[in-house]
Amino acid sequence: MDLPSYYDPGALVSVLTTQPIDRLLDYRAPEGGLAQGAFVQVPLGPRQVMGVVWGPGQGNYDASKIRAVTKVLDVAPMRDEMREFLIRAGDYTLTPMNAMLRLATRAPGLSDPPSMQKVYRAGAEEPDRMTDARRRVLDVLRDYGGLSFTLKELSEMAGVSTGVVKGLVTQGAVREEQAPRDTPYPRMDTDRHGKPLTDSQAAAAAHLERGMRAGTYGTTLLRGVTGSGKTEVYLEAVAACLAQGRQALVLLPEIALSEQFLIRVEQRFGAKPVEWHSGVTMTERRRAWKMVGQGQAELVIGARSALFLPFRDLGLIVVDEEHDTSYKQEDGALYSARDMSVLRASIAGARVVLASATPSLESWANADAGKYDRIDLDARFGTAVLPEMRAIDMRNEQMQPGRWISPSLARAVRSRMEKGEQSLLFLNRRGYAPVTLCRACGEQISCDHCDASMVEHRFLKRLICHQCGDSKPVPEACPKCEVEGKLAPIGPGVERLAEEVEAVFPEARVAVLSSDLFSSARALKAAIAEIAEGEVDIIIGTQLVAKGHNFPKLTLVGVIDSDLGLQGSDLRAAERTFQLMRQVAGRAGRADIPGEALLQTHQPEHPVIRAILSGDEEEFWRAEAEARRAAGMPPYGRLAAVILSASDPQAAFAAGQELARRAGPLNAVQAQVFGPAAAPIARIRGRHRVRMLVKADKGVALQGAMAQWVGQLRPDKDLRVAVDIDPQSFF
Ligand SMILES: [Zn+2]
Ligand SMILES: [Zn+2]
Repeated sequence: MDLPSYYDPGALVSVLTTQPIDRLLDYRAPEGGLAQGAFVQVPLGPRQVMGVVWGPGQGNYDASKIRAVTKVLDVAPMRDEMREFLIRAGDYTLTPMNAMLRLATRAPGLSDPPSMQKVYRAGAEEPDRMTDARRRVLDVLRDYGGLSFTLKELSEMAGVSTGVVKGLVTQGAVREEQAPRDTPYPRMDTDRHGKPLTDSQAAAAAHLERGMRAGTYGTTLLRGVTGSGKTEVYLEAVAACLAQGRQALVLLPEIALSEQFLIRVEQRFGAKPVEWHSGVTMTERRRAWKMVGQGQAELVIGARSALFLPFRDLGLIVVDEEHDTSYKQEDGALYSARDMSVLRASIAGARVVLASATPSLESWANADAGKYDRIDLDARFGTAVLPEMRAIDMRNEQMQPGRWISPSLARAVRSRMEKGEQSLLFLNRRGYAPVTLCRACGEQISCDHCDASMVEHRFLKRLICHQCGDSKPVPEACPKCEVEGKLAPIGPGVERLAEEVEAVFPEARVAVLSSDLFSSARALKAAIAEIAEGEVDIIIGTQLVAKGHNFPKLTLVGVIDSDLGLQGSDLRAAERTFQLMRQVAGRAGRADIPGEALLQTHQPEHPVIRAILSGDEEEFWRAEAEARRAAGMPPYGRLAAVILSASDPQAAFAAGQELARRAGPLNAVQAQVFGPAAAPIARIRGRHRVRMLVKADKGVALQGAMAQWVGQLRPDKDLRVAVDIDPQSFF
């Protein structure tokens, strides 16, 4: 597209705003003119809103009524590459452009004038007395040339208290000055050496570095079991990217938990990378957004939304744990950060590394079809081997009622405790009990707003709905029959399992890792550090523990209910169970101590359980791929979902039936429509939900047909319509 690069004062420009308006608005360029892509503040009715200059004005408004741009923001204009990415990502996910722009401007205060802060740089004087701490401060300042740092940055990098820096200021050895708050980030040092690599790691790193040097788009699936060193390998690709002067982005799930990861990156490159996730302060977000746009932030470690940062020259995107379901945004704009990474890289001429111990079937199939290269890192770092995995057949265990730890598993835990090693008991269920039942009348306590059972959280002394978050105190009497003292917990959650552990192993030091038990990311980090230092004998955890924490003393993993994920009609139930079990099992055993994983199951002959135990992952993927291919399901066919919700169940159904009747646009591309049917969770937050599923052949241009099809519905104030292209969940 040929767009002018600059607009003279008074010229008509069209502006895309972040407001939910489905068209561009014309304004006049202000005094001084403005650049194509400039971020601007414009008047809209009585308000001032943010937008971006999208192109020349259309001139289809009364010229005398066109207002001027209020101001041009002091940030780098949007680049063509970013603009194209937003357009194509919006087209793919059927997300309106104003919502795409909101994703791309998730930093507060972009329109504020630059604020000032104190920064520190090398001064002219020598300190009267040199101490180790003082020397470290001066070394940091010297190593980074003339750069200045905030007090916090400088004291952290030097490993000294802020008082040491302040002392040097008094002596004139360090200068304190005012500078704009949004300062460039410290440079990454790519000359430092990473950890020594094994031969296979070095070969993998060399492959990625060659790709980096090619300077063109390409995607590599980096498959490596836990402990295979895949992080070290892709950090070499990051180093190669930064050495070329390009920027790199590493996406991680659950970023708040990655303190250990950030430390590794800092050790590798000698400076902290930019962090981008919900735990980052507002000021820091704004600084990150601006500096990324100016090319003064080289390496970003972030959650999925970091993909929408305005990189100036993005050379590499690493998607770590690429199979993780949290890469799919399930609210608002429904996009998969993994798939959109590939799109962005293909536009930017960047490389993508998809890293996982248990890749998604989509990525496996793309590698199988030759669209991605694939590197396998099988050897664990050092001499360790994968944990030995065995099933505990629960049909042969003597279980007491209300107990979930089998005698076989209890024996294994005890023997680890005797050796001073740690055990992890894995149960992917938060809370105390998933169901609360009245023993007098059989009533099951469910949420008032959702079609879901209330989960007892004894630690919080409340019943919580995991769908909408609503909670209420645990009642004394049954809400239906009003009989007191008859409400009973049914089934285990991690809190109840903790109670059992305390009864069975009274001498054990126990930690429960469940996201809802920590008030802050900091508290969770502290708990993780305590476990890593060996202060805990038994860890009880949900899915939270499946993600890359290193617990060197952990040698036994017991999966309380391996069958949990196998039920349900989800297309990916088998794939997800397989991934989760393999990952959790991979937590056991490190360098020199072999690990063991025991899976409690009632169906040891189930194909997924057998595949997990046999460790033959290729066989599992081939079988799963074959089944999907035969059924025409993703990744060998295409799916899209429509979720209709309304406060009146009839209204949601009627809309669905109307869509079903008017399926012409879908018939035209030979797509099939299923539904309307009540969604598996038929009511969330008081809204009744109806799902429709559309299935098409792989080559079909589904988005256009979907947009036309759904566009036939008359929007009204109660009915909400969400379109989910490539749905990952089916609730
Ligand atoms: Zn009752
Ligand atoms: Zn609810």
